[in-house]
Amino acid sequence: MKIILLGPPGAGKGTQAKSISNRYSIPHISTGDIFRKNISENTPLGIEAKKYIDNGQLVPDEVTINMVKDRLQQDDCKNGYLLDGFPRTVSQAESLQGFLKDRDESLDTALLIEVPRDFILERMTGRRVCPSCGASYHVKFNPAVEGKCELCGSEVVQRKDDTEETVQERLDVYERQTQPLIDFYKEKNLLSVVEGTKAINEVFESICDILGSVK
Ligand code: ADP
Ligand code: ADP
Ligand code: ZN
Repeated sequence: MKIILLGPPGAGKGTQAKSISNRYSIPHISTGDIFRKNISENTPLGIEAKKYIDNGQLVPDEVTINMVKDRLQQDDCKNGYLLDGFPRTVSQAESLQGFLKDRDESLDTALLIEVPRDFILERMTGRRVCPSCGASYHVKFNPAVEGKCELCGSEVVQRKDDTEETVQERLDVYERQTQPLIDFYKEKNLLSVVEGTKAINEVFESICDILGSVK
């Protein structure tokens, strides 16, 4: 299965991606996680990406697209993958379509997790993440027991870009640059939509219903 996850920052893409990846045995590819790993290791890619990420801006398309193409050519992607946080611009989506077409492949679905803007701030400012495996927690909705990641035991932290000011900027960026992808995939008959305001496990059940019928 080849799936992409769409939705505003804080919609629950990363949270659901961990469960989907488990259930369907496909790798979870999060561009945000790849950038953050590069930042923590101080690689040239990380140094470049950090300038944008800290301000809530998108990393330039060329950098991002090349990084994702490299990742999708690795062995573990042979039987499918789940893209979380990519594509985020029409140009990225067109590149992905071209990449797939060259391989005679296609997406199974673009799954939009729909959450209204007024839910987002509380989700984002209460978010805690695992710096090792990228798992998402929330101080109120999904607390990490004793502040430790339940998947790998690392201490969870708050992301530097999860401040109110940066979140507002990222929401604006989402509306301007990423929301047009909803129509892009609708026109290709690839869009499926799940209501993301319910509890985490209920959202996952709805996602499984959808994925069961597109498979
Ligand atoms: P969130 O899950 O909160 O939406 P991500 O972890 O997906 O955030 O992304 C964090 C930051 O990394 C983004 O604000 C952006 O700066 C950068 N980023 C991630 N994916 C992309 C992408 N596909 N194109 C450009 N920038 C990206
Ligand atoms: P995204 O990857 O789309 O930016 P995350 O998966 O990191 O979003 O979720 C953002 C925050 O909201 C996290 O703190 C997460 O624990 C929390 N969260 C995710 N899904 C739900 C939900 N259905 N109800 C309440 N909180 C949620
Ligand atoms: Zn972890």
